[in-house]
Amino acid sequence: MTRFDVLVVGAGPAGLAAAHAAVEKGALVGVVDDNPNAGGQIWRGDPEQQSDPRARQLWSALSSSRRMVFLPQTRVLYAPQPGHLLVQTASASATLHYDKLVLATGARERLLPFPGWTLPGVTGAGGLQALSKGGYPLQGKRVVVAGSGPLLLASAATLKSKGAHIVAIVEQAATPALLRFAAGLLSTPSKITQALQLSAQLRGVPYLRNSYVLSAHGDGTLQSVQIQRSGVPEVETLQCDYLACGYGLLPNVELAQALGCATVSENGQTVVKVDALQMTSVPGIYCAGEGTGVGGVDLALAEGHIAGLAASGNEVLAQEAIAPRAHWKKFADRLARAFVLRPELRTLAGDDTIVCRCEDVCHGDLRTHTGWRSAKLQTRCGMGPCQGRICGGATEVLYGWRPDAVRLPISPARISSIIE
Ligand SMILES: Cc1cc2nc3c(=O)[nH]c(=O)nc-3n(C[C@H](O)[C@H](O)[C@H](O)COP(=O)(O)OP(=O)(O)OC[C@H]3O[C@@H](n4cnc5c(N)ncnc54)[C@H](O)[C@@H]3O)c2cc1C
Repeated sequence: MTRFDVLVVGAGPAGLAAAHAAVEKGALVGVVDDNPNAGGQIWRGDPEQQSDPRARQLWSALSSSRRMVFLPQTRVLYAPQPGHLLVQTASASATLHYDKLVLATGARERLLPFPGWTLPGVTGAGGLQALSKGGYPLQGKRVVVAGSGPLLLASAATLKSKGAHIVAIVEQAATPALLRFAAGLLSTPSKITQALQLSAQLRGVPYLRNSYVLSAHGDGTLQSVQIQRSGVPEVETLQCDYLACGYGLLPNVELAQALGCATVSENGQTVVKVDALQMTSVPGIYCAGEGTGVGGVDLALAEGHIAGLAASGNEVLAQEAIAPRAHWKKFADRLARAFVLRPELRTLAGDDTIVCRCEDVCHGDLRTHTGWRSAKLQTRCGMGPCQGRICGGATEVLYGWRPDAVRLPISPARISSIIE
């Protein structure tokens, strides 16, 4: 089946909530995700196995409905014409047709370069969490979790549950900002419960606030990291097997941009611009979840619900569902304020530190350029398989510029998928 009333890209919380709302209203819904299972980042692996009852309820209702078709391991490449999406599966390509489209493509981690960050054993915080959820063995391994944001706690808890020894959690945000954020949780009791659960799971793990990783060291593979703690003049060395380091999340806006949807800057991030009913600047295309701004699972669910109702023609019901979204938007704003990156992180890379990992372009080759285009033309920065998705987040922090266009196909594709 390739023709849908509502096609949803992304099977994370936002996409599942959108699909569920649309299916409940009688629409024929397709859900596309490049992972083998639904669930997105937070419910990775299998929504039916999650402790969050919302994951189980959404997936059991959707998977038992004859009006929902799930297309796993299917990646959207581009739109050959309005109402069509070219997708690639593990073995084939196909064109999907839709009446309304909901983009729920989530976010990715922001990785920042520092000396040694390309050593084997250094990963993103969510990256190592995702690997461990997929079965990567960490039993008995010493892990430093570092960077910024609540994902560090979630990641450390997952890694610990898989048998890793968490040496420390190294959070760059300063103590006053963290205290303000904690006080703000009073308005979101479910987040307090979550925080208490995480702190119980992480009892005994040092949480080093106001601290950041300076460099990673090892002979061929990671052996230690050096960290700077605020108020402590000496650099501290932590021995470890893995460093899981990520500096917050960046919305995945590339597919929306490729479809002509406008973006705006919000809380220091480039996000897809949507109206009150989650519709983008392109009529008939909606966006929900982290693509419209990083705000956590509750905001993703609220936005997905609105988008699914609106996309299936139930605008009045969608209007009535706006209040919970406003509540979680405020949480998103507090999140952004609390975990603003400290300026010192811009100064860690040396001239020989690689910034663009796909094309091996170093900080020394980039720092004299005035913008992304000049750097790209003269150094090949951002021209590898990730098309600037990793280094673009870093160049924005380091030099104030980021990718200025999206090239199609938006992800690496087989030649046979894109040649007619
Ligand atoms: C690595 C990582 C780990 C995280 N871990 C946690 C955690 O443990 N706890 C927590 O509270 N929050 C976590 N988060 C934050 C979490 O993602 C959000 O809170 C929320 O779940 C976002 O929901 P979403 O539906 O917007 O996006 P996501 O859950 O990210 O879902 C988006 C989905 O779209 C798919 N997709 C994107 N582009 C395409 C395309 N072109 N074609 C096909 N499919 C596509 C992605 O593969 C993904 O499955 C994590 C985020 C990241 C990036």
